[in-house]
Amino acid sequence: MNVKEIRQDFPIFKHRPRMVYLDNAATTQKPKSVIQALSHFYEYDNFNVHRSVYTPAQQTTEKYEHVRKQIADFIGSRNPKSIIFTRGTTESINDIAIGYFQRNLSEGEEISVSIMEHHSNLLPWQRLANQTGAKLNYIPLTANGHLDVKQAEQMIGPKTKLVALTGVSNVLGVINPIREICKLAHKNHALLLLDAAQMAPEMPINVQKIHPDFMAFSGHKMLGPTGIGVLYINPKLLDKVTPWQLGGEMIQNVTTHNFTYADVPQRFEAGTPNIAGVIGLGQAIKYLNHLTMPWIQKRCADLGQYLYDQLSQVKRVIVYGPKHRQTGIVSFNVKGVHPHDVATALDLNQIYVRAGQHCAQPLVNDCLKTSATVRASLYFYNTKSDCDRLATCVRKVVNFFHAAQRHLPKYDRG
Ligand code: PMP
Repeated sequence: MNVKEIRQDFPIFKHRPRMVYLDNAATTQKPKSVIQALSHFYEYDNFNVHRSVYTPAQQTTEKYEHVRKQIADFIGSRNPKSIIFTRGTTESINDIAIGYFQRNLSEGEEISVSIMEHHSNLLPWQRLANQTGAKLNYIPLTANGHLDVKQAEQMIGPKTKLVALTGVSNVLGVINPIREICKLAHKNHALLLLDAAQMAPEMPINVQKIHPDFMAFSGHKMLGPTGIGVLYINPKLLDKVTPWQLGGEMIQNVTTHNFTYADVPQRFEAGTPNIAGVIGLGQAIKYLNHLTMPWIQKRCADLGQYLYDQLSQVKRVIVYGPKHRQTGIVSFNVKGVHPHDVATALDLNQIYVRAGQHCAQPLVNDCLKTSATVRASLYFYNTKSDCDRLATCVRKVVNFFHAAQRHLPKYDRG
């Protein structure tokens, strides 16, 4: 695969030729085919779905439903009805917290999450635990930043009702042993929710191998538009989840005092959905399939390793997480320099990274023992030269701040 040619599919790289984009975990850039699909939809196919009988509206409905099938294939589900379109990972997880666990969790029961969860796979469970009196358990990390499976085995037991776990950490870049943890959850009659927001963009997923009960991911982190995402519900559970949003097109029959639900998945998609988003996501999936997910996974892991090795050689730089890199995410700090200052210095060189807690504050504060980090997140269109430019600039930041600190009184030095 020729990365130079791949980059030409992404107009933003032509418009911003000096940019080094390393904030892919926040959102990825979009290929021309996705951008064109959006404008083509509005120019030619802008009709509402599942409503009108006239031909173009039927054709748009067919295109929309075709994407559902495409996504089912992408994650190895045999049943397109298991795919529900949402606004993104956050909405998908909240749908399950409210639509299933709010009615299926009681005092004394337990939810297990890992300490590396993104807030969107944490706060819904925190609130539910507070409301119901259920206990929220945190699976810790090993010293090198992997999920502590031994601790998970101790923690997940007969009281556990839910294990909510990310497939890939958006801060440390580690891949979690989802299949193993899923087996453990099921052995204890608990359900497993997989937050695949960072996993789906970077590696193949097969729900028939992992067997999650619920899974969530976002289109915008995998070349698709913003505001569109996916909730996968294991077909066995589709009838057990209650839609919390009620309105148009999710009903079968409405009388003055009651209503009946439409079949799945329509009952979960109340109101006019993000049709353009779905069409754009379909093109994104097509693009990923063309590159193939195993190639993307290897490319991201190789780049991640290269960047890790480059940054580890820079004096006064701390790189977080294991030495062996599995994905394209590399979080780091420069000793004595605030991550926002590092990110601002990089910005002056058109190198775009994120500084902060990456919506994973318990991990950053309690495990990494810091207030914030700088995060470089690579995707397949990044290059080794992007990594080199980042490492060179970080080296300059280190030298600049180190030299400046020598002029400070001792108590003020980092
Ligand atoms: N979980 C993880 C692991 C993520 O990386 C993200 C996005 N950064 C989310 C959840 C939330 O995704 P969204 O903001 O698209 O809903």
